[in-house]
Amino acid sequence: MSAHDALPEVPQQLFIGGSWVDAAGGATFAVEDPSTGEAIAHVADATVEDGTAALDAAVAAQKDWAATPPRDRGEILRKAFEIVTERTDELATIMTLEMGKPLKESKAEIAYGAEFLRWFSEEAVRVAGRYSTAPNGATRLLTLKQPVGPVLAITPWNFPLAMGTRKIAPAIAAGCTIVVKPAGLTPLTMLWLAQVLAEAGLPDGVLNVVTTKSTGKVMGPLIADPRLRKLTFTGSTEVGQSLVEQSAKGLLRVSMELGGNAPFLVFDDADVDAAVEGAMLAKMRNIGEACTAANRFIVHASVAEEFSTKLTERMQGLKSGPGLEDGVDVGPLVEEAQRDKVAQLVADAVGKGATVRCGGTLPDGPGWFYPPTVLTDVPLDSDLRTEEIFGPVAPIFTFTDEDEALAMANDTEYGLVAYAFTRDHARVIRVYEGLETGMVGINQGIVSNPAAPFGGVKASGFGREGGTEGIEEYLETKYVGLAF
Ligand code: NAP
Repeated sequence: MSAHDALPEVPQQLFIGGSWVDAAGGATFAVEDPSTGEAIAHVADATVEDGTAALDAAVAAQKDWAATPPRDRGEILRKAFEIVTERTDELATIMTLEMGKPLKESKAEIAYGAEFLRWFSEEAVRVAGRYSTAPNGATRLLTLKQPVGPVLAITPWNFPLAMGTRKIAPAIAAGCTIVVKPAGLTPLTMLWLAQVLAEAGLPDGVLNVVTTKSTGKVMGPLIADPRLRKLTFTGSTEVGQSLVEQSAKGLLRVSMELGGNAPFLVFDDADVDAAVEGAMLAKMRNIGEACTAANRFIVHASVAEEFSTKLTERMQGLKSGPGLEDGVDVGPLVEEAQRDKVAQLVADAVGKGATVRCGGTLPDGPGWFYPPTVLTDVPLDSDLRTEEIFGPVAPIFTFTDEDEALAMANDTEYGLVAYAFTRDHARVIRVYEGLETGMVGINQGIVSNPAAPFGGVKASGFGREGGTEGIEEYLETKYVGLAF
């Protein structure tokens, strides 16, 4: 069966004002299976006119949605959580076909991504203000929270569901309407989700989905439109910087979840087996195509050989192949350019003197596969120390004391997440206080959790998604001075 035949039924038009519509002019673009390069679907290629129509629909629905009781908003999210969970197998097939990750990774993302729908269904009814007496006793101070207004969300290809639900669920819970622009490489998951939210009872116009290949051209006028009040973006730092500039004119509320370069510290007192287990998660979740992926393993010299040998054994034991095949651990990278970038970073490190412990060579055949790779003796001037790898490559660096380890960890423009393995409690505190990141995993290789605030500092952006903080991004605080 071809990949095209394996694709479950999924909408391929634009979702605007509750209707599925073709792009003005009827253009489409192909969505490809990265394990073969074969086209699996053709989705609508929106024009500027379509983008504006989506914002018109969001603006028209905003007032009624803000006035909808929080419990009703929450119930729709809860229903959507249940539908997504029930239909996990169907969505996992769609996601694996358009993005490449193995089915088990798609299912893990669906469990994670659906959880934002449930979490924010619960947060919808917990939005509160406060009341106090002014210090001079003369007036009362009242604050209330109101939805920011229509939101534009732009999402990446690496977690096609979760990067969407992390924005859509809190926006809906807060009473905001939203236009979503999913990544051109993986639009099908978002179109499927829009259909599910409609089935769950979301009123027309509250969520609108625009797919396009003319991204900058279609998004620009929306960002410049004075009716838009908030821009939330997950993607590369470079595009994020340009979007912040564009949003300055309208003084939009902005959230930016950008790139990462996570350090993974292994101290001499660490449980090395647990560190290897954590390393497999931090490196290989999503084939390394995660902003949270460990990009630099920084290991104490006294345990570096043991850690490198054990990590190499584990990486060699992984099975690569098309994501729909049974038992596959590692799928293809999302596209040829991504695969070539990873190969180039490895070639640069090896050219400068790194030792290849496993992997490192491109396999024959169709698809954008890159093998799990471990590099040791990696020179500090290697490009993969400063650039986001976004692939299954683990470069190992060594250190000899804690201050040096922290300095190496912080020696990056990024600041999304860091991991540290140590059994010394005092060191744990020094380390998590000293790391310049928005998130830290201690003795664990994964931090993503819908109940926790996800986000970065420095070039990794600003704003938080998830936790009790996540809904605040979609709320304004209004203060009322009450005299009597
Ligand atoms: P990207 O190239 O920045 O694209 C992200 C989104 O922005 C896509 O929907 C893309 O549309 C859109 N876009 C591109 N150019 C645009 C423009 N001029 N105006 C408006 N939108 C534009 O990033 P990516 O390659 O998809 O994703 C990988 C990056 O995302 C990595 O750097 C990763 O670290 C980061 N990421 C961060 C987080 C986090 O939470 N911090 C999570 C996941 C990923 P097209 O697809 O049509 O180009």
